Amino acid sequence: MAGVSRLQYTTETRLIRVMCSGRVDLEFVLRAFLNGMDGVFIGGCHLGECNYITHGNYHALNMVLLCRKIMEHIGLNPERLRVEFMSAGDGILFAEVMGDFGKKVKALGPLGKGEDIDQDELKVKIKEVIKLIPYIKIVEREKLASHLENKEDYDELFTSDEIDRLFSEVTSYYIDPEKCRACGTCLRKCPADAIIGAKKQIHVIDQEKCIKCGTCFEACPPKFGAVTKYSGEPVPPPIPEEERTIVKKTKNNKE
Ligand code: SF4
Ligand code: SF4
Repeated sequence: MAGVSRLQYTTETRLIRVMCSGRVDLEFVLRAFLNGMDGVFIGGCHLGECNYITHGNYHALNMVLLCRKIMEHIGLNPERLRVEFMSAGDGILFAEVMGDFGKKVKALGPLGKGEDIDQDELKVKIKEVIKLIPYIKIVEREKLASHLENKEDYDELFTSDEIDRLFSEVTSYYIDPEKCRACGTCLRKCPADAIIGAKKQIHVIDQEKCIKCGTCFEACPPKFGAVTKYSGEPVPPPIPEEERTIVKKTKNNKE
């Protein structure tokens, strides 16, 4: 509507159309910042008026509220991310909001410089958060499904303490080589292909690929209980490849 009506808004804007604001993933926003965008604006339909039964605009709102707290956690000004809800006929409102957001982002300065964070350090921080997105979504899944009706509740959905804790207590998973019996259950169920193993070989987790979903922890049969959780501390290194073969017990050989 803003374009059809020839309304003016900030020329620094780059528009990306999506079918629904709920399609804008946390990763898209962080990648935009990683690629040097100084601000990200998400426009969605009015809350409660989503065309889809999924109510994607509530997802967009919750994702933005979470992302703003994550931005604070890594030292970025959360004002660089904004979400607004309006209808296709709200061209004037859209142009006003974009003008206002453009001014705000200009006042904040280039990403990172405005916050006095070294560019390389900032990239490392953003990449670390991107890697943890699946984990963050699992931990915050209930809140991410909220339908907040009052703006007064927005600030309380995610708290800074909660987000600091989320990052300091990141859970990692490790397969205890003494307990693994190479049954292969975890390998078959891992959604990230992060488990390395074969018949009669102790399985190990590739921590670079692991998305910390905890499926292996749940899947390992209780009689083995080989998958261990590590919260907020590094996991031990994997057992060397040449030591992974499981030697069966015999009368003369007791493993
Ligand atoms: S936690 Fe386990 S199942 Fe989940 S990605 Fe990591 S290794 Fe795979
Ligand atoms: S499910 Fe448990 S015992 Fe089976 S391969 Fe995985 S870690 Fe080993």
